[in-house]
Amino acid sequence: MRVGVFALQGDVREHLQLLTSLGVESIEVRNTEQLASVDGLIIPGGESTTISKLIDIFKLRDDLLAYIAKGNPVYGTCAGMIMLAAEVLDEASGQQSLKAMDISVRRNAFGSQLDSFEASIEFAGAPVDVAFIRAPIVERVGENVQIMSQLTDGAVVAVREGSLLATSFHTELTGDSSVHEYFLGMISRTR
Ligand code: GLN
Repeated sequence: MRVGVFALQGDVREHLQLLTSLGVESIEVRNTEQLASVDGLIIPGGESTTISKLIDIFKLRDDLLAYIAKGNPVYGTCAGMIMLAAEVLDEASGQQSLKAMDISVRRNAFGSQLDSFEASIEFAGAPVDVAFIRAPIVERVGENVQIMSQLTDGAVVAVREGSLLATSFHTELTGDSSVHEYFLGMISRTR
């Protein structure tokens, strides 16, 4: 199994390190050939506005859409979640998501008071240590979307729709590998 980390911008290295620690081969993905060579792709956290613009500058939008349409597993964290969403609330001008998951997400939804924080929450029924950094919240989920994590106030922060997984939070920064292991399980089942 080989996993790609989409590497135009964001916390690419932390994902690669976590995958390496799990004994999984991983590569940075910046072009069509690299994308075609991976069994699953992680779109990291960073800045969705920048990632969106770089996708078009590097002419990778059609490749990414085709990769997703084929049913390849993709996991978006934070800015990556925003990139996968059908609808982005509080979008920056010029920003365009991939519209791959039937969810509406609000950018920077926690406000400046809670700009970033760590928490232990449930993901797929087990506790996970996570970090939120200027994170989005999922405000609408389509009927085929499964909620994987919710905060105590009901805010939806992790979702899955078929081969696509998205979390508002980062676990590559806390070093908790359980969400990545879950994603690797999704890849194993599609290979
Ligand atoms: N607020 C950022 C955005 O809108 C996401 C932050 C993150 O990925 N940690 O893209």
